Amino acid sequence: MNYSLREIVERHHLLASKALGQNFLLDGNITRKIITLSLRQQGIASFGGCNLCEIGPGPGGLTRAALAEEPASMTVIEMDSRCIAIMEELKEETDIPFRIINGDALKFDLVREIEAPRQLISNLPYNVSVPLLTGWLKQAANYQAMTLMFQKEVAERIVAPTRCKDYGRLSVLSQLTCTMSKLIELPPECFTPSPKIRSTVVLFVPKKEVPNGERLAKVEKLTSLAFGQRRKMLRQSLKSMPQLLDKCRDIGIELTARAEELPPEAFLQLADCL
Ligand code: SAM
Repeated sequence: MNYSLREIVERHHLLASKALGQNFLLDGNITRKIITLSLRQQGIASFGGCNLCEIGPGPGGLTRAALAEEPASMTVIEMDSRCIAIMEELKEETDIPFRIINGDALKFDLVREIEAPRQLISNLPYNVSVPLLTGWLKQAANYQAMTLMFQKEVAERIVAPTRCKDYGRLSVLSQLTCTMSKLIELPPECFTPSPKIRSTVVLFVPKKEVPNGERLAKVEKLTSLAFGQRRKMLRQSLKSMPQLLDKCRDIGIELTARAEELPPEAFLQLADCL
């Protein structure tokens, strides 16, 4: 790299936008560490042979660390046109096929855009991290892995076990589709500007058998119903769907239980009768 990331940010007058959830990682030691931890946890030596996609590359700290691990190709999707100018410069510096998309990641079907085998990486814009993750989880079987940074509270919800206060819709969908590992927790000082919150990087590796999108859409409908009134007993929260109450009885779930007491697999079994 010819310039430090701080110089690049200054040269492009990249004043962080709160609306776009911009908290940049400008320290190469941290971005390299995130990538190294992800590779190590996946048991691979590099991204060789894999098509990588990064959401919200910003000034490109994580992008550079990922390119150093020689993916077969890199696609970046970024909403901020100031960052697109930085990506155009980076594209000139690398020999790796590099595709730049200026747009809203929520509007892209990444499985169509990126050839397999594919992986996702992102220091996610916090304001859209949950809708982005939910969409990707419904297609989890199509990814080798996803290395994603969230605000700590969201990461806790993703990995929360049954009966824990953080256990909810996101835990059920994540745990039905993937195995998760927390890779590293970062304090606010690691970012420019510093957010008020801590952040956690989570690695998602899809399970061997991932329920299909149709079943997962039903799980989402069911968890929204059940966790929408999480303090209520199932006989109350599911009363608008009598077939669910019958299924609970069939598979030995007490109607006096609350949503947070049901493991992810029970939600899948129940969703199948919607
Ligand atoms: N990857 C950079 C880093 O680690 O320094 C930037 C991370 S910053 C937390 C989130 C990035 O996502 C910003 O560059 C922002 O412009 C971009 N972004 C925000 N909303 C987006 C969206 N809907 N689609 C694509 N990019 C988005």
